[in-house]
Amino acid sequence: MQTVTVLGATGSIGCNTLDVISRHPDDYRVFAITGNSQLDLLMQQAKACSPRFVVVADEALFDDARKLAADYGVTADILCGQRALEEVASAGEVDIVMAAIVGAAGLIPTLAAVKAAKKVLLANKEALVMSGALFIDAAKQSGATLLPIDSEHNAIFQCLPQDFEYGNLQSAGISSILLTGSGGPFREREISTFKEITVEEACHHPNWDMGRKITVDSATMMNKGLEFIEACWLFGASADDITVVLHPQSMIHSMVQYVDGSVIAQMGNPDMRTPIAYGLAWPQRIDAGVETLDFSKIASFTFDTPCMERYPNLKLAIDACRSGQAATTRINAANEVAVGAFLNKQIRFTDIAVVNEETLNKMEPMTVCSLQQILEQDHAAREVAQQIIRGFS
Ligand code: NDP
Repeated sequence: MQTVTVLGATGSIGCNTLDVISRHPDDYRVFAITGNSQLDLLMQQAKACSPRFVVVADEALFDDARKLAADYGVTADILCGQRALEEVASAGEVDIVMAAIVGAAGLIPTLAAVKAAKKVLLANKEALVMSGALFIDAAKQSGATLLPIDSEHNAIFQCLPQDFEYGNLQSAGISSILLTGSGGPFREREISTFKEITVEEACHHPNWDMGRKITVDSATMMNKGLEFIEACWLFGASADDITVVLHPQSMIHSMVQYVDGSVIAQMGNPDMRTPIAYGLAWPQRIDAGVETLDFSKIASFTFDTPCMERYPNLKLAIDACRSGQAATTRINAANEVAVGAFLNKQIRFTDIAVVNEETLNKMEPMTVCSLQQILEQDHAAREVAQQIIRGFS
């Protein structure tokens, strides 16, 4: 029996994680679940999975959460705030931590789990994009097991040799990591109409059902850019080792190409319960509740190269990856602010890339190493991005 903390339980990944766990009551017990604003859902989840702790990140909602817990008959201890997130991520009783808070808010609790040597199922890519070397070094030092949940990275992980050593792509005979992406809902839309893209259109992904931020990131392909940076850190690869391939059907989740000409791909229906189940049970396999691929019904698999004019955010993120940690921390922060402003209908879809690029251009190059410096750069980039957005109106 393994005990699990689910950070970001009320989100898309969090709900899928609790779904997989509920299918294996003899193997997994929920220790803690966390949410931020969706208190009703959080309490319904608590009622269903009986955790020891329920954490509400937003301290202002503590009283409401306690009242609601009583109404729902939830017996778990109700905690709130950042410190509580760190505590349930690092508690001695916990074996596995699902890191599924969205955005930079996930960094500190995820790092707490890493430092406490947990098996960390990493969905929160922004944490790694922000802190790169620091995050990986912390995992190496503590001996934490880091398992990628992003479907692409999970696929790459499955396609690597079992004895793969971090960063040793060449000695493993790997010639390239092929990071696939669907191209989002606007892959074929006339570029001249991108200014008119609405929030509703951008929040509708053709293949995946996800949270709003990552769905918009998928439409701009910033998500692929963040994944590019994430892949470099997760596998110790360089930017030259990774190629982005468009694959609109989202059934091949990524591939690894070897020097002998072999390409190993991982396939499956686009359902996040597959990588989640893989992460939970690794190195075993468990039922995820996912329908298997039916090859008699698949019309075709197609591939293409992304056009950077269509996806300027992808180019910005790859350039930031080549530039270094300050740039990746900044673009992640600027993008979070820009996507938030787009979702609030303050800026246009095409302005997201403008905000990201201008934020990077306005900030001086520098080297960042410590957590303090990373958080400062995150904060500074948010201020610059907000200033740029104010300039639009
Ligand atoms: P959602 O927006 O659906 O969920 C986000 C979760 O984070 C919710 O539980 C939310 O709480 C919580 N949260 C939001 N803000 C804060 C905060 N300030 N402090 C603490 N908790 C907070 O996101 P997804 O599940 O889609 O994505 C989660 C992460 O996984 C992201 O990093 C994303 O990039 C990554 N990912 C997601 C995939 C997917 O299929 N969804 C695929 C691959 C990666 P509440 O809802 O209660 O406000």
